[in-house]
Amino acid sequence: MAQHMAHGWRRYTMLGAALLTMASAVPAQADTADPFTGAPGLNDPYYPMDGNGGYDAKHYDVTIGYAPDTHRLTGSTRVDAVATQALRTLNLDYSGPAVTKVSVNNLPAWFDRADEHELVVTPLLPLLPGLPFTVQVEYAGEVTSTEGEGWVLSPSGSAFVAGEPHSATSWYPLNDTPMDKATFSLHATVPQEWEVVSIGVRTDDAVRDGMRTVGWEMRSPVIGYLTTIAIDRFEFLEQRAADGTPLLSAFAPDATKAREVESRLPEILAFETELYGPYPFESGGGIYVDSELPFSLETQSRPIYAPWTDLNTVVHEIAHQWWGDSMSVKQWSDICLNECFASYTADYLWAERKEGKDVDQEYRDTVAKYHDDPKFWQYALANPGVGDEFTSVYYRGPLFLHALRRTLGDEVFFTAVRDFVTAHKYGNASMPEFRQFLQSRTPHDLTGFLAAWLDRTEPPAAEYLYPGSLHV
Ligand SMILES: [Zn+2]
Repeated sequence: MAQHMAHGWRRYTMLGAALLTMASAVPAQADTADPFTGAPGLNDPYYPMDGNGGYDAKHYDVTIGYAPDTHRLTGSTRVDAVATQALRTLNLDYSGPAVTKVSVNNLPAWFDRADEHELVVTPLLPLLPGLPFTVQVEYAGEVTSTEGEGWVLSPSGSAFVAGEPHSATSWYPLNDTPMDKATFSLHATVPQEWEVVSIGVRTDDAVRDGMRTVGWEMRSPVIGYLTTIAIDRFEFLEQRAADGTPLLSAFAPDATKAREVESRLPEILAFETELYGPYPFESGGGIYVDSELPFSLETQSRPIYAPWTDLNTVVHEIAHQWWGDSMSVKQWSDICLNECFASYTADYLWAERKEGKDVDQEYRDTVAKYHDDPKFWQYALANPGVGDEFTSVYYRGPLFLHALRRTLGDEVFFTAVRDFVTAHKYGNASMPEFRQFLQSRTPHDLTGFLAAWLDRTEPPAAEYLYPGSLHV
């Protein structure tokens, strides 16, 4: 995610700040006494009710109908999963329109909605551990704007879904946690003058009886907030990456000027492939919307870009394809793995190698400017706190990684970060794992350096602030 620049460093301006805090009001107790009930949450320290226990989701097959004039959505989602325990009852995360019918393994099931985003499903027959099962959920109703947490609707009739960490529950039921990735396919039907864009590869685009049906498929595992649907009168740009990956980008009517920046996508992919290893997905592109949006978001293979998007934003969101999408956080406190790297790539590495900027000087100037500003240091990079995930990672994250690079030297630093993100391809990683990994790559004791930069809420001591060529 990238936010609109303001006040010298990237400030957290999202409406989401208030909304995110609400989640913390949910009781931390997510375990259950009944051994045959899947846990309604996975005890993430920030969002304890996110995700569910008792099963492993394998694939989501989402079928959507949408009427831009009435905002009416009809949905039918099939969840293919494997039970990891005996289940009399299981939960999906869902906050969308009214549910009309649920079946499990093609037999009718009871269902109930609870709390903010829990769909409680009770199959006719209990599910056995180790066995695959399917849940089919039918739903219909009007969608409304919940900016930052789901749908964004515009007066023109266009609509899209965007939000981190929560947004997918606004349009399909799922196991909404970074810890349960699954493949994803979408079939969407809209009036024929509208287009539908999503993630992955476009598998179908057919018009019949005045209606357009579009298919999209993401064949690499994906997390809920990294999926999206966007409905608009899009124009398209087709390109190809240097490695042959097909790139399909979409522009809303008032976003066509973004073609210029998006035309540099092959160059950006080549730059980041050299840094972090082969591009992890079989397709790429971007979705340029023209509605007000305070953030751009790294939806998998095809980010969503707000109208203020510039080259820096695209470099940032594309870096997330490695840092956040292919390799994802384990818990939301690990957010620096996503944002510190995406920001460092765009703000420092691109600036240095493509634009010839003196990034050591940039670093020293930034440190000098904010050294005595307590607000700049107030959120710990390794655990910024619930609702404050998208703060210091943007403006202090790049400083941390630059100081780390000057501590380790270029060869050790770049090899280590590429090896780390490659080792966790299509999986998850945590900040503690990253720290251990870094230490394994150098005889130099990093304990003090990492504690000063990641755990403290004050400027690091001079020895950690000015390593290598950074000394003043
Ligand atoms: Zn980001």
